[in-house]
Amino acid sequence: MSFQPTTLGIPEEVKKELISDPIARKILITIFKMGSVRPKIGLETGIRYPPFEDLPNWRSTIEKLIRYKLVDKSIVDRLIHCPRCGSIHVSSRLLCPWCKSFNIEPTYIIQHTLCGYIDTESKFRDPNTGQLVCPKCKRPLRKEGLDYVVIGKVFECLNCKRKSNKPLIVFYCRNCGHQFDYLNTSYEPVYEFTLTPLGQRLLTSGELHKQDIIEALKELGLMVESPGKERGRSGIEHVFDIIARTPQGRVLAIDFAEEKDPSLAITSRVPKALDTGVDRYVIILPANAFEASMLVQMKNIIVLDLTEPYLVERIKNIAKELLKKEAKEVEVTAEAPPELGEEAFFGEEMLGGEEEEIPEEGLLFEEGGERKEEEEKGGEEKGKEEKKEELLADEFFGG
Ligand SMILES: [Zn+2]
Ligand SMILES: [Zn+2]
Ligand SMILES: [Zn+2]
Repeated sequence: MSFQPTTLGIPEEVKKELISDPIARKILITIFKMGSVRPKIGLETGIRYPPFEDLPNWRSTIEKLIRYKLVDKSIVDRLIHCPRCGSIHVSSRLLCPWCKSFNIEPTYIIQHTLCGYIDTESKFRDPNTGQLVCPKCKRPLRKEGLDYVVIGKVFECLNCKRKSNKPLIVFYCRNCGHQFDYLNTSYEPVYEFTLTPLGQRLLTSGELHKQDIIEALKELGLMVESPGKERGRSGIEHVFDIIARTPQGRVLAIDFAEEKDPSLAITSRVPKALDTGVDRYVIILPANAFEASMLVQMKNIIVLDLTEPYLVERIKNIAKELLKKEAKEVEVTAEAPPELGEEAFFGEEMLGGEEEEIPEEGLLFEEGGERKEEEEKGGEEKGKEEKKEELLADEFFGG
């Protein structure tokens, strides 16, 4: 492989093509998530790649990804396919070289050393007693090496009775009944798919996800920059992969972390969040986001998995929460009747500490009893974490 480990080194047009190809992205994410995609081989089902099966044209797409050096294929097997129907449900057959019958039987060639007579084992076997008896001198055979020796193995044809030590090897398709020899078979390679280091880096860099996220946030009415800068209280200007601002200036920052170690990915980024005091900071990890989120004691930092199927949706919902809060503030100051916002993806936990300042949630649901219950239920589940997070977040951000 000839990629540069220090740069992504992917031509812009390839990157653009992949960004607009959801199947290619799904393939990359699937391989990334599984480490490798291996074939499932069944005689009747053939060679299958279940993780790709619901992706249309995945085979041609994966070939494209291989050409772009993002995916590697390595051979794991070769299989005999029926030349007529393509099935791999193929058995081997041994044929009599004279009459081509498959009804041949392996047997030993025995020499009775006492009289010198040579014949197949079946000729020595007494059909009544099952004992070995010499057909020539009629003496029973006692012990191999003592009074007789096995001098070889042959196949005896039960059809034409001839013997051969080199039967014909052919194949028989159990699917269509076609019989063929090895010269007429296709002996196809079977592959396993993995990501190249370049493919891994392309994915963890977030390059393939950014566009969807940016568009989704723009649709919600946020101002988006990528990369985006935000000046901290220290005066340092911090760079985030994406910065999205609500009309009233609330900030949602997003970073893609490429570190394999989730705790390192988080701890190295927390100072940015503390210094800038962004309203929401989403850190997208290559894997293990759930475990990593346990390390985060601040409720404005949300850790998500790159391979999470609803990544864009979740980020949209975080942005919606920010917008909803803004709408509420406007309502409170204008004393307008509260409106029901869109369903909160994260339930109550996202609203957190500031909820106490705007205690209209109770009023909001007073008339709809059922709805209120639901909300309380959601709150209960998250209750423990919330208290702990609030405390720390207040310490860090001064309440
Ligand atoms: Zn066939
Ligand atoms: Zn004998
Ligand atoms: Zn024969």
